[in-house]
This record gives sequence, C-alpha cells and structure tokens, in this order.
Amino acid sequence: MGRSASVRGVAAIDAMLMEVALEEARLALPTGDVPVGAVVVDADGVVVGRGRNAREATGDPTAHAEVLALREAAATLGRWRLDDCTLVVTLEPCAMCAGAVVLARVPRLVLGAWDPKAGATGSVHDLVRDRRLNHRVEVVGGVLEAECAALLRDFFADRR
Ligand SMILES: [Zn+2]
Repeated sequence: MGRSASVRGVAAIDAMLMEVALEEARLALPTGDVPVGAVVVDADGVVVGRGRNAREATGDPTAHAEVLALREAAATLGRWRLDDCTLVVTLEPCAMCAGAVVLARVPRLVLGAWDPKAGATGSVHDLVRDRRLNHRVEVVGGVLEAECAALLRDFFADRR
C-alpha cells in the first residue's frame, strides 16, 4: 500500500486540478482564443493563480495561459519565486512559457496534451530539463490527455 496509494493520491489531485485548468480553457472560447487553460497551486494545493489564452481578447502576443497564471500566482503570493508551486496546464507549454516556468523557479509542471508542433517541455524542445540550466522541472505529462486534446481538436475543426 503506502507508496502506491500516495502516488495514486497525487495522480488524483493532478487530475482534479486539470479539470480546473480545463474549465479555464473553455472560458477562452467566447473570444475566439485557442482554448488553453492553466492553474498554479501552492504547496498546500491552494489555487493561487489561473489563466487562459487571451491573445485575441487582449491583442497581446504573450498572453498565454501559463504566463497569466504565473503572474497572478506571483501577485497573490507577493513574490516572483514560485519554488513551492505546481503549474497545471492543458497543453504542453511553448518556448516562452517553458522559459517563464524556469524563471519563476516552478519545480513541478503537470500538462494535459503534448504539442508535437511547438511543445518546449519534451516534444520539440525540452527547456525545463536542460542540463545547462541550474533549475530543472519535474514534468508529469498526459493528465486527462484525451479531454485536453479533444477541446483543441474541436476548436480547430470548427474554424475550418
Ligand atoms: Zn506559451
């Protein structure tokens, strides 16, 4: 029991947080934004930041879910160093967001769908586990992957 039970416990919490990130992602749909959502939780599992892709809504090329969630978390906690937090995001981060994860010293990243075209935490690049950097991130991929991928697939299918 012991260890496997706690591993299952962590997986269940990750899945629960991914549901929250998915909720956030769906809120991007009304503005025509690609539905990607993110949440940041502190060491106690309390949500301290949320974000969704808002590039169309704000006209800001850097308004990705992860960046917005990290900014909100930093504002909530009153510090830029988020070294006791977990970032949960529905799609594998791009290069900018992977960089932001490293800059915020986030130790753990949970992602839903992999992005074979632009993913920068294991797919095209792996900026969060680069041996040349001091900071490395634990990456847990494929959490509610089918749901996260379906949301994006439906979005792009509707636009065609
Ligand atoms: Zn990004």
